[in-house]
Amino acid sequence: MLEVISVIMENVIIIGGGPAGLSAAIYLARAGLSPLVFAGSPPGGQLTLTSEVENFPGHDSILGSELIEKMRKQAQRFGAKIVDENVFKVDFSKRPFIISPASSGSVVIGQSQSESEKTDSTDSNRFQPISTKSVIIATGAKALWLNVPGEQELRGKGVSACATCDGFFFKDKVVAVVGGGDTAMEEALTLTKFAKKVYIIHRRDSFRASKIMQERVFSNKKIEVIWNAQVVEVMGKNRLEGIKIKSTRGENLPQFKILAVDGLFVAIGHKPDTEIFASQVELDKKGYVYTSIRIAIEYIKNQISNSKMTNQNSKIFNIKKYNFDYQMITSVPGVFAAGDCVDIYYRQAATASGMGVSAALEVERWLESSIK
Ligand code: NAP
Repeated sequence: MLEVISVIMENVIIIGGGPAGLSAAIYLARAGLSPLVFAGSPPGGQLTLTSEVENFPGHDSILGSELIEKMRKQAQRFGAKIVDENVFKVDFSKRPFIISPASSGSVVIGQSQSESEKTDSTDSNRFQPISTKSVIIATGAKALWLNVPGEQELRGKGVSACATCDGFFFKDKVVAVVGGGDTAMEEALTLTKFAKKVYIIHRRDSFRASKIMQERVFSNKKIEVIWNAQVVEVMGKNRLEGIKIKSTRGENLPQFKILAVDGLFVAIGHKPDTEIFASQVELDKKGYVYTSIRIAIEYIKNQISNSKMTNQNSKIFNIKKYNFDYQMITSVPGVFAAGDCVDIYYRQAATASGMGVSAALEVERWLESSIK
């Protein structure tokens, strides 16, 4: 029998149905806390957009969507309630916290959703705000794309935003990376382990990446930098065949040039899905959720550089708001965060899972301590 959300107090609501949210759900469900997961609409996060995943421990090769489905079933088996719905508003100003689901899609709790199982959208209980003792934010981040012709059509067919995930498929091939930040440097260096030639295409004449990463790139013979250039078209029928690049200055290149490449890695940044939390928890200037572990690292970095918290971030975070007995806690006690929405470095399914587990264990401990 289907159960429909009603206004009851939840122990914990997890917002996000990717590897971080679902790993947290597995642990919290096994701990008997019957977590409620808002998995999003459509559910599953970035992993459902990739094809083969070959670097998730325990799986030689698995489709991203299949991995997510397995995690969902595992969480549900232990009593997690999964809702394929977005959250459109949260109120963390006082406890219990209030979570408002969006007014579209269908709500099904306790089992996988199929057409026949969908609830009646006129049900009066469906869109009511839900109160909860604790929250895990696990809404993920989206890679930014160039938005040029051909890019979306060839994603997964030579166009990627993750060298760690897909570099392996480009053994002895020619690939290009777009971007000039640390991610682009890292992507290019990772790709040199597989590809025979790696271009970095950057729109300016200098990188913003850290000096050490730039040095590594400049000393790698497989990498060639194309400065002052932008990709204007991604070409190929069923597979990437080349890219059309254009000079941003009209100096070093003719107006247009076709570069034959087998792979294109777009590394121009990520955007965390955290807009609805902007006035609720502290976010960094790019929108990533601050957790106490990141604050501790930022603080130590500042101490070492002796700048006494005068960098840009110190204007954003308030160290006194964080409880350093927990690592995944946000600026609001009882609200935790995990996965790509907090992760400025790794953004892997396995690291997101690990963070989700940490957040779950901390929620458990926090709930125990808050009822004492
Ligand atoms: P980022 O620092 O914001 O760099 C994005 C790069 O993409 C910039 O060079 C930017 O060009 C370029 N870009 C942006 N939009 C573009 C467009 N539409 N077309 C072409 N180029 C475009 O992002 P990130 O490299 O992902 O790094 C994010 C944060 O994570 C940074 O703080 C970084 O230091 C950190 N990180 C650190 C490490 C590490 O320490 N190992 C590894 C990865 C990331 P412009 O320079 O012209 O703006």
